Amino acid sequence: MSGPDAVHRLEDPFAFAHSGSSFRGQLAIADMPRLWDRIASKAGVVTFEVRGRVDQRQRPLLELEIEGTACMRCDRCLGQLEFPLKLASTVLLVQPGALHPEDADDPEAPEWMEVAQLLDLREFVEDEILLGLPYSVRHGDGKCGDWAGGKEIGRKASPFSALAALIEPKQANKD
Ligand SMILES: [Zn+2]
Repeated sequence: MSGPDAVHRLEDPFAFAHSGSSFRGQLAIADMPRLWDRIASKAGVVTFEVRGRVDQRQRPLLELEIEGTACMRCDRCLGQLEFPLKLASTVLLVQPGALHPEDADDPEAPEWMEVAQLLDLREFVEDEILLGLPYSVRHGDGKCGDWAGGKEIGRKASPFSALAALIEPKQANKD
């Protein structure tokens, strides 16, 4: 199962990296609670792909790509704004207790992450989205007025309408 409801984790991220494996999945924004106070709506799903590889020094790396849309609030008019998420990062895997890359006097100083034998991909993706979300967003110049009066801009064309419909029953269960 790889839909938004699947449990995503890597049983052995180091082996995953060394074998050059990849994994593609989907996560609902509603399942990433640390994002909630940064966004205007919990609707939406992101797709992600994690790929393992080793660098020139045979160190295990994970490459993570995330695509989706976050529904944020415009700083100027407080209306909703669809912010496209397109994030890519590469993270060096470090065993707990191992020498951290910056301690090892590594001139390249890659982003690194201490992981044990299990990596929760939901947390990994959530972390990267948290880092990638801007703190302040605004509609384009002159676009804020479209929101005034309570009409939601682009509602018919919004990819969120379909996604929200998919997600709503689940949120109802949680409440
Ligand atoms: Zn606005």
